[in-house]
Amino acid sequence: MFRETNPEKEPIKSNMVWERRWNPLREEWVTITGHRNSRPWSSPEKKALHPRVVSYDSDCGLCPGNIRISGERNPQYEDIFVFDNDHPAFKQPSPPREQSGDSRFVSASAGGVCRVLCYSPKHNRNLSEFSVDQTRKLIDVWIDQTDELKNLPGIEQVLIFENRGELVGVSNSHPHGQIYATEFLMEGIRKESMAFEKASEPLMQSLLSAELRDGRRVIYDGSEIVSFVPYFAKFPYEVFIVPRSKHRFVSSLSSNERNDLARALNDILRRYDNMWGVPFPYMLLFHQSPCNGNHLSYHSHIQIHPILRAPNLPKYLASVETGAGHFLNDGSPEDKAAELRAVALDKI
Ligand SMILES: [Zn+2]
Repeated sequence: MFRETNPEKEPIKSNMVWERRWNPLREEWVTITGHRNSRPWSSPEKKALHPRVVSYDSDCGLCPGNIRISGERNPQYEDIFVFDNDHPAFKQPSPPREQSGDSRFVSASAGGVCRVLCYSPKHNRNLSEFSVDQTRKLIDVWIDQTDELKNLPGIEQVLIFENRGELVGVSNSHPHGQIYATEFLMEGIRKESMAFEKASEPLMQSLLSAELRDGRRVIYDGSEIVSFVPYFAKFPYEVFIVPRSKHRFVSSLSSNERNDLARALNDILRRYDNMWGVPFPYMLLFHQSPCNGNHLSYHSHIQIHPILRAPNLPKYLASVETGAGHFLNDGSPEDKAAELRAVALDKI
């Protein structure tokens, strides 16, 4: 059942957008094909969107007091609980690797630290249901973790992220995020840091000024933080959350900025869930500067990549996106921002 989001107001007028748009952060084109959003689809399974009901699940490896797959028992935690991932993608010291002896087969170590952040002891309490103060507590944990991990020997990057929903492959529905602190730069961060370095003006601040001047894609216009659907969005409901001032890491945000970041994050996550009355699957990433070197131009920010194009209709990364590396976005960023702004927040 989907809720009418804006029953009293005029329906949002659709902009026919059919063009390529340049993403200066990744230095790549995205094609906006807003005219294709109404093409017919058969709906995928609905079960991935159904909300959970229990606050404690005895089979959940992340609930307080339960035994994880490693055999370790979780404490009876009452707030945010952080632990090293039992099945890490990266490890310090890095795992041994096979040397092929053939120079055409190039490999490198997979060193790093992977952590899990359980947002709440309650199995059914999503980040979108947090108060602003609770969201601020999570930001404080991001700050503590970033400060600790970026100072470990060899760490080049601290990536904070959340995959939410079965549609993005989440195996455990207990609300949680993750951190990958790696001994190398991931490709997206490497490209972005190069774009920041070579730009003739502060890249993110000029983008932010342009978005604020245009105004059509802005969702949250706070004293310290702004959120918007970027002009070059790859996903229909993609949102950037950006501090007005440049910070390389989340840890240098002032108290006012941290509070406003909590408000901005709370605002967009509630809009997502309230839009169709279903938990909204997304991938959320906190982009931070490379840890080493002089990346003084890097402007840290959050990117949220929601996977739905419409209720029950995920965007699949098909041949063109996956094989040719070119995104097609079926939603006009101007229309999608208007839809998000129109969501009533008092119904959650
Ligand atoms: Zn749980």
